[in-house]
Amino acid sequence: MATLLARNASVLVTMDGGRRELKNAGLYAVDGVLKQVGPNEELPATADTVIDLTGQICLPGFVNTHHHLNQTLTRNFPGAQDNNLFPWLKALYRVWARTTPEASRASTLVGLAELALSGCTTVFDHSYVFKNGNNVDCQIEAARDIGVRFHASRGSMSLGQSKGGLPPDDCVEEEPFILKDSQRVIEKYHDAGIGSMTQIVLAPCSPFSVTTSLLTETAKLARHYKVKLHTHLCETLDEERYTLERFQLRPVDWMESLGWLGEDVWFAHAIHVDDDEIKKFAATGCGAAHCPCSNMRLGSGIAPIKKYMAAGVKVGLGVDGSASNDSSNILMEARQAMLLARLRLGLLPPEGPRKYMHLSQSHPVRAKEWMTAREALELATLGGASVLGRSDIGSLEPGKCADFFTLDLNTIGYAGALHDPVAAVLFCAPQPARTTVINGRVVVKDGEIVTMDMAPVVATHNRLAAKLAEG
Ligand SMILES: [Zn+2]
Repeated sequence: MATLLARNASVLVTMDGGRRELKNAGLYAVDGVLKQVGPNEELPATADTVIDLTGQICLPGFVNTHHHLNQTLTRNFPGAQDNNLFPWLKALYRVWARTTPEASRASTLVGLAELALSGCTTVFDHSYVFKNGNNVDCQIEAARDIGVRFHASRGSMSLGQSKGGLPPDDCVEEEPFILKDSQRVIEKYHDAGIGSMTQIVLAPCSPFSVTTSLLTETAKLARHYKVKLHTHLCETLDEERYTLERFQLRPVDWMESLGWLGEDVWFAHAIHVDDDEIKKFAATGCGAAHCPCSNMRLGSGIAPIKKYMAAGVKVGLGVDGSASNDSSNILMEARQAMLLARLRLGLLPPEGPRKYMHLSQSHPVRAKEWMTAREALELATLGGASVLGRSDIGSLEPGKCADFFTLDLNTIGYAGALHDPVAAVLFCAPQPARTTVINGRVVVKDGEIVTMDMAPVVATHNRLAAKLAEG
C-alpha cells in the first residue's frame, strides 16, 4: 500500500459537484486513489509521500483530448510555417512517414513531459502515420516509463493521392493490415477499468485520407471491443468542399451515414458546423476536442464552443500536434480557449437585431456567450474527462484518481492577481507546474520531471529531429 499526502494548499480546486474551492486544504490518496479531500486538520498526520503545498494552488490534472506527439520532431518546420491545412499536410506527410520507433519514443516522451509540466495528467494521442517500423507499442512504453495516463490511438490513413486522397500513396497503409493491427493493440493494451493508465482508441485520420470502407470497418471493430472512435472533422472549409464534391454530403452528414455519430465518438476541431449539426452532436452524444492554438496557427477558424456548451455537447481541450501548435502546453491552451471564445463574439454578428454596448452598461454584450475563466477550467478537466468517457478523472474527490498539479502563486506572473487565484491561473500567462502527480506517483517535483532523466531524451530528440528534416 502506497500512501500520499498533499497539504497546506492556499487554494484547492475540487471541480466536484459543488465546484468547491477550498482554502488551506489538501488531499490524501492510497494506491493512486483519492480517499480524502478537505481542510488540513481533517487529513491524516503523515503518509509514505508527503508534499507541502504552502503558497500553491492545487488543481485537478488537466486532460488533453487531441495530440500528435510524434510531431514534436517537426515543430516550426521549414516549409510548414505559413500555410493552412492542406499545403501544411502536404509539406509534412513524407517527413512524418520517416519517423522511426526510436524517434517516436523520444517525441512521445518530450511531448508528455511538456504536458505534465503544464499540469496535464491524461493524454490522448492521435497517431496515424505508421510507416518505417513506427508503432503504437513504443508510445505506450514511453508513456508508462514517464508515468502519464495515456490513451493511444491506432490511427490510420488508407486513401492515397491516386485514389483521390491528400496523402502520397507511400504514406498510407493497406486496410487489412490496419484492421489486424488495431485488433492486436486493443487486445494487448486496452484497459477499460477504473484507474486505467492505458486505453486504445481507433482513429482513422480524416475524411480526405481514409476510405469509406475503412471508416465503417473501424467502427464495427471499435464497437465490438467497446473502445472509442476519433477522427478530425469540420476542421476547414476545404474539407467541407471535399465531402460535398465527393459524397454530396456535408462532413457531419457523411459521418452520420457511416454510423460515426454516437456516445463513443469524438471529433477533433469541429469548427465548421451549423446549428443543426450542433444539435445532432448533443442528441447523439458526440464530443469535440477544441484546439484553439492549432486553429489559429493554420487559420482554420473558430469553433463555436459556447454554443456547444449551451447545447450540452461534451467539449475537451486539445493542444493538437506540435507541428501546428509548436508547443504542448495545456494551460496555455485553456487560456487560448477562453480568449478565442471572446474574440469570436467580436467577429461574428449576433443573431437577431444588432446589439450595441451603451455607456451605462457594466456587463458585456452577449454575456451568456462570454467564456469565463472557470468555464475554461471546466473544459480542461471535467470536459476532457467526459470526452474520453472517463468518470474517474477530472475532479478531486474521494474515489477518483489521484491526478493533480500545483502552481506557485507567489511569482512574478501572478503578482497583483491573487484576489482570485483560480481565475489568475487562466487570465495570467501560463506558469510551469511546481508539482504534478499522476495516479498517486510524483511525475513533476519542484518544476522538474523526476520519473526519468530528460536531458538525454531531449538530446536524442534533437538529433533525430535534425535527421528527419535532412530527408
Ligand atoms: Zn490533429
